[in-house]
Amino acid sequence: MYRAKSSGRDRHEVTVATPAGGGAAPGPGALRLALDTDGLRLHHQPVVDLRTGRAMGTEALLRVHDPVSGTAPPGRVLDGVNDPELLIDLAGWVLDQVLGQMEEWDDAGVGPLSAFLNLSGAELQSDTLLERVSATLTATHLRADRIHLEVPEPALLMADGAALDRLRTLAALGIRLGIDDFGTGSTSLAHLRSLPVHFLKIDPSIGRRLREPGGRAVVEAVVAVGRALGLDVIAEGIEEQSQMEILAQLGCTHAQGHLFGVPSPVEALALPPAT
Ligand code: C2E
Ligand code: MG
Ligand code: MG
Ligand code: MG
Repeated sequence: MYRAKSSGRDRHEVTVATPAGGGAAPGPGALRLALDTDGLRLHHQPVVDLRTGRAMGTEALLRVHDPVSGTAPPGRVLDGVNDPELLIDLAGWVLDQVLGQMEEWDDAGVGPLSAFLNLSGAELQSDTLLERVSATLTATHLRADRIHLEVPEPALLMADGAALDRLRTLAALGIRLGIDDFGTGSTSLAHLRSLPVHFLKIDPSIGRRLREPGGRAVVEAVVAVGRALGLDVIAEGIEEQSQMEILAQLGCTHAQGHLFGVPSPVEALALPPAT
């Protein structure tokens, strides 16, 4: 069972800008500008296997860096971007960075770690992304099953046939697909069964319900859905040891959250021991 080391955590906290401490969320124009002027950064957050207590991978989280105001998370801006070209360019940039980072870690003998990347619904609307993923992957030595793509539950619920076909093509390449923010939408078990997904990421709001009377039953039901379908179940936003222990008992296979490490630039990342 994993025990958080408070020294590592404190070290992170001084290096990472949070929404409270950093600048305001950037607008779409700022995202394009940042992309064109080397103003984007990635932070990485460990994903821990609760069965071994070790890091199995990291999630890449986009940041916009400004020399004056500092480093800010994308906030809700990404959801509001309607420019498909910008979204594809952003996703392509993230993909290049992440695969490059994985190769560096491999060369340094770290891991092997998997990578989790976020996709918005709009990014599924284009064939360009699919082409870019397969081309980029082919250009590396990385196994496709180390790449995990996350799509938020509401976006997946709205995905049309063409978007689902793209996901099936990605899955056929060996890429692992998952539902982010699971538990916030209303995906039925029948619908879930028809989706080409390998993992669920349980939204932090579900984990927080453990503090409410009767909340445990809700959490148990959400985890049970994933387990019944044979999916990996990743609990997100885990901040307390007690939360982590209950979620592990209920059948979550993995967890992510400040307890294990806050999102950090690669040079400040202290990973729990890798599997
Ligand atoms: P997400 O994918 O659900 O990412 C998890 C969010 O929870 C991150 O916020 C992370 O910093 C935060 N978090 C992690 N652990 C904890 C914890 O213990 N407690 C609390 N309170 N929060 C925690 P962040 O980095 O602001 O990202 C927000 C959202 O932006 C992400 O949610 C994701 O949907 C989106 N996003 C981030 N990077 C990308 C990207 O490259 N592409 C796309 N399309 N979306 C991205
Ligand atoms: Mg995510
Ligand atoms: Mg999430
Ligand atoms: Mg999300």
